[in-house]
Amino acid sequence: MSSEWILTGGRVIDPSRGVDGYHDVCIKDGRIASESELSSPVRLDMSGKVLAPGFIDVHVHLREPGQTHKDDIATGTAAAKAGGFTTIVAMPNTIPAPDTPEHVEAILALIAQKACVRVALAGALTLGREGMTETDAAALRKAGCPLLSDDGSTPQSAGLMKRIMIAVAEAGLPVVDHCEDMSLSKPGLLHDGSVARKLGLPGQPRSAEELIVARDLLLAGETGCHIHLQHLSSAGSVDLIRWAKDRGIKVTAETTPHHLCLTHEACLEFGTNAKMAPPLREEEDRLALIRGIEDGTIDMIATDHAPHTTQEKNQEWSKAPFGIVGLETAVPLCLDRLVHTGCMSIAKLIERFTTGPAKLLGNLGVDLATLKIGAPAEITILDLDATHTVNVADFASKSTNCPYDGLVLKGKVVKTIMGNCR
Ligand SMILES: [Zn+2]
Repeated sequence: MSSEWILTGGRVIDPSRGVDGYHDVCIKDGRIASESELSSPVRLDMSGKVLAPGFIDVHVHLREPGQTHKDDIATGTAAAKAGGFTTIVAMPNTIPAPDTPEHVEAILALIAQKACVRVALAGALTLGREGMTETDAAALRKAGCPLLSDDGSTPQSAGLMKRIMIAVAEAGLPVVDHCEDMSLSKPGLLHDGSVARKLGLPGQPRSAEELIVARDLLLAGETGCHIHLQHLSSAGSVDLIRWAKDRGIKVTAETTPHHLCLTHEACLEFGTNAKMAPPLREEEDRLALIRGIEDGTIDMIATDHAPHTTQEKNQEWSKAPFGIVGLETAVPLCLDRLVHTGCMSIAKLIERFTTGPAKLLGNLGVDLATLKIGAPAEITILDLDATHTVNVADFASKSTNCPYDGLVLKGKVVKTIMGNCR
């Protein structure tokens, strides 16, 4: 079987090299090659398509080990590939958490066996992700973690977080931060606003996120640690990051397709399929997040793919878990709602899915997010004009907790190449 291909006639957008034009892309033995290296390639017609470096999602819950009724490494990475992602970061809220070198090695062995895309594993910041005792950052790095996070929560003590940042920076890793002050967010179930009042449910104020964003930006400034802020939801958080970047604080940030596309009003229509952490907020927040992702204050879009079973999600608001799946809808949603509405160019959107998230993965030691010769042949192929209807029954993920079922979107992922075109 061939291991050589030429993809011809497509528009290549590769932000890593400032390329946007019509070029052939050649693949040989799993790498991007020059045409002169090929002997008998298979030609594939890419007319009308956009070819981009493989997309990266830095925020995925694979649920294995521990909760494989929701998703597992095989189905979660299949969902990633179907959604256009060739590299993902697996969050540490598995059972057990990757909080010791032994746990990290065991989870990495499962990933090596089952994953169909590249998976970087986020090690835990604290033992059991309990927010009390720091893990051994250097040992977790040695075991194979390129970044550390307690995603789902964050150490509530500023003193502990500062000690962690010092140690994690010393180990050469970024701290990946779920920004939530639990003393303000609990027992809130959705954004503290008119919809929460209408539903008679307790709300989570913006300050629950913004206080930790501010705290950890200040601590990152003091310690020199690279802080990465996850799934930002509020206009104030965007302002704080702008302030920090102006001062040279080492910060990167992500927001999610749902925070860019939906507001708390979605809770009225979709019920607990719009329950997530942090919550969907108001239109002014959504517009500020779009401005932030457009001007680069927010570096990347990440899905926070959080599978839960229908049974779990169908419980009442106070019992249903937080989160929605996102791997298979993220790219078409962003094409439809950000590019086709004129909020941002296709080239910029591709940056936010490639070179943006690659900033967080320097420790992987792989040429990510580029189609330069010699890089791994990881390519996301888009059809910007194809329309399709979201059908959760088609998802590769085991879970279908998604508010977009039945939505018609313009723009889709037509193929994800991971080393070969088969
Ligand atoms: Zn989180």
